Amino acid sequence: MASANEIDIISELQKKPFSVRQSGEQNILVKQRPIPNLQATTGNRSFQESWYSKKDWLCCSSEKNALFCWPCLLFCPGSSSSWTQTGFKNMKNFLSDCKKHEKAKSHMGAYKTWKTYGFQPRIDCLMSQTRREEIQRHNEEVRQNREMLKTITEAVLYLSRQELAFRGHDESSSSMNRGNYRELLESFAKMDSVFERRLHGRLAETHLAGGGRFTGVSPDIQNDLIDCLDKIIEDEILKEIYCCTFLSIQVDEATDVSTKEQLSVIVRMDKGESVIERQLGFVDVSCDRTATAISSVVKGLRDSRPLLLL
Ligand SMILES: [Zn+2]
Repeated sequence: MASANEIDIISELQKKPFSVRQSGEQNILVKQRPIPNLQATTGNRSFQESWYSKKDWLCCSSEKNALFCWPCLLFCPGSSSSWTQTGFKNMKNFLSDCKKHEKAKSHMGAYKTWKTYGFQPRIDCLMSQTRREEIQRHNEEVRQNREMLKTITEAVLYLSRQELAFRGHDESSSSMNRGNYRELLESFAKMDSVFERRLHGRLAETHLAGGGRFTGVSPDIQNDLIDCLDKIIEDEILKEIYCCTFLSIQVDEATDVSTKEQLSVIVRMDKGESVIERQLGFVDVSCDRTATAISSVVKGLRDSRPLLLL
């Protein structure tokens, strides 16, 4: 039995459960599994102190003179088991009852919580580290994609400025001439090893393993880039239009190499000291080249561009 001055932790826990205690108190309490020597005998079977080392969850209340389950007392005190309520006293059935209790779902949950108590921040830390590495890999990939996009944009600008065709007749890997766009990118690749690896899809060497990454050579990408650059140039022209004093628009029809009738649209702006001209683009008017149709095209241009104050 416990002496008058000795505090029985298990009795205290039953009065005030672990869950309602302050975190500082919990941190101390969780490590204080009470393992006093128990003088208990049932039939010809007595309590043995070595059971504490064999069953690391086992604890004892001196006051109640009974065995309890320490993790269940801490984290699952509501379970109706004798291991948390009255205490276990039948030494004769100790081993069989222990096995039965160890298989209980509530005990397994409480045992796991007890064993990992205090380690949670370290697990979180480990997860944060993994997440950080994942973000770093992603950022590195974004950085390399942007670098690649810069080079590809330069190729698109160059070919557009020089009015050169992008595509080749034969763009297969065995082709001697894969078209201006691919050949220009191959030339850039000779001077930039990272770009060369990405262009040819050899990403494993750059620790960015995996397929389906951005290489920038598909016809869709080429058209998307041309559209993006076209939009940027048009926005700049519209800014000039917005600031100019006077404006006129010229339209002229011409036939291109594919025999399509194209309407060239040019704006002429008076900027005070000088007069400048900018081409807004070509519009296919093959279907209808009447004055009414051409007039509709011009009005359509105005309606689709709010800054074009015609
Ligand atoms: Zn238990």
